[in-house]
Order: sequence, then structure tokens, then C-alpha cells
Amino acid sequence: MRKNVIAGNWKMNKVLSEANEFVDAVIEKVPNSDNVEAIVCAPFVYLPSLVEKAKGTNLKVAAQNMHFEENGAYTGEVSPVMLKDLGVTHVVLGHSERREYFAETDETVNQKTVAAFKHGLTPIVCVGETLEQREANETMSLVEDQVKKALAGLSNEQVAATIIAYEPIWAIGTGKTASSEDANEVCKHIRNVVKEVTSADTADKVVIQYGGSVKPANVEELLAQSDIDGALVGGASLEAESFLQLVEAGA
Ligand code: PEP
Repeated sequence: MRKNVIAGNWKMNKVLSEANEFVDAVIEKVPNSDNVEAIVCAPFVYLPSLVEKAKGTNLKVAAQNMHFEENGAYTGEVSPVMLKDLGVTHVVLGHSERREYFAETDETVNQKTVAAFKHGLTPIVCVGETLEQREANETMSLVEDQVKKALAGLSNEQVAATIIAYEPIWAIGTGKTASSEDANEVCKHIRNVVKEVTSADTADKVVIQYGGSVKPANVEELLAQSDIDGALVGGASLEAESFLQLVEAGA
């Protein structure tokens, strides 16, 4: 049985006191459940504090990006070794904002995904189409291509442990959500692509999230779909109360 993974992506929001207050407010309330895993994806500078608070609890802490190299002359970057050393468990890779504003490509997403596994981090790999691509009926082929490139070179075991987040770009931060049926259709296609490049067993295990204006009011319908195993959530994850509602919906 796959778990629902609810990951709150704070993006570039909050100051340290707000980040700490959020975690203090949710930490005792995140359920110990076989059905749900709760993750906060925080800015790098808050990771030491949040990892410390989350130790021994049901809340996991993720980074929002990383470099693929272990160390070296990459000013301003953070490596997988550094994240692992801190106690971070997950890392978001290839978010559409990183692809759009920071020149992230399918190739660098793949290098980072491979590096994440090498250093014991679970990657949350984001894929998804623009509105123009959806209107041109390119969603399925585009997403298929992104998934195949991101997972290249991984073992079946690693693919099974990857979290894939399907995030249509036109639905991120816009208040527009893909209908749960449309979102499920793409997530089902992603699972078939995983099956094609690995095995039926691997495809059955891989967690596929939906992301794009998910909120407490629509999360249950999305999670009820056959191939949606959780959500990557931006705006609605910033308030402790609504994050907890999303987690509870997945439990
Ligand atoms: C995201 O940050 O990945 C996201 C889906 O944002 P929002 O929930 O605000 O659309």
C-alpha cells in the first residue's frame, strides 16, 4: 500500500521565528500513521533548527533544492552531503520555479536525483506542463519525457523510493486546480511510464503526488483518485492549521 505524502513547500517565505512557530504548532499533531507522511520543505537557513525540532517526531524536513556535487567551487550552493549531515531526509528537485528562473534542466534534475540517492536523501522530483503545452495536447508526451530523463540511471529500487510530483505549471499559485480526474489521468500515465522503464512492481510502489493550488477544500477529492498519492502544496502549507488539515486528509 502506498502512503499519501503531504509536503508543504514554503518556497522563499517566513523568517526564522515564523518557521519555528509553525513547527512548534504542528509537531505534536502530525499523526503517526501508516497512511500518511508529512514533510515541510523549508529554506536552507532554517533546516538546522527545524531538523532539531523534528527529531523523533512524525514530521520530516526537506530542502527545496541542492547541487549535485558533493563539494567544491560552487559559490552559493548547498550539497547533498551537507543536507544529509544536518539530518534532512528529503529534497525537492526540478520545481518549475527552479526550471523557469534558475535554468534547471532535465539533465541537472537527473544529476541531482542520482546524487540524492547516493547520499541517502529521498528526492521529490517535480514535472509538469505549461498552459501552452496543455492546450497543444503535449501534456502526456512532455511529462513522459521529463520523468524518463529524471529517472535515468536509477535502479528499480531507487525509482520505487522516488516521490514524483506532477505539478501543472498553470495550476501553481494561481488558484486554478486541475480537475481531480485530469490530474489522475496524468498521474496514471506517469505510473505507466515508470512501469515501462522499470517493472510493474516498481510502478505500484512509486508515490506520485499532485501539486497546484491544493487546499483543504479540494485535497480529499484529489487523494481519493486511484493514482494520486499525496500533494505538494505551496500557499496552503504556510499556515499551520491548514497544513495539518491537509495531513489529516491524507491519514
Ligand atoms: C508548489 O509550490 O509546488 C505549489 C504547488 O504551490 P501552490 O500550492 O501554491 O499552487
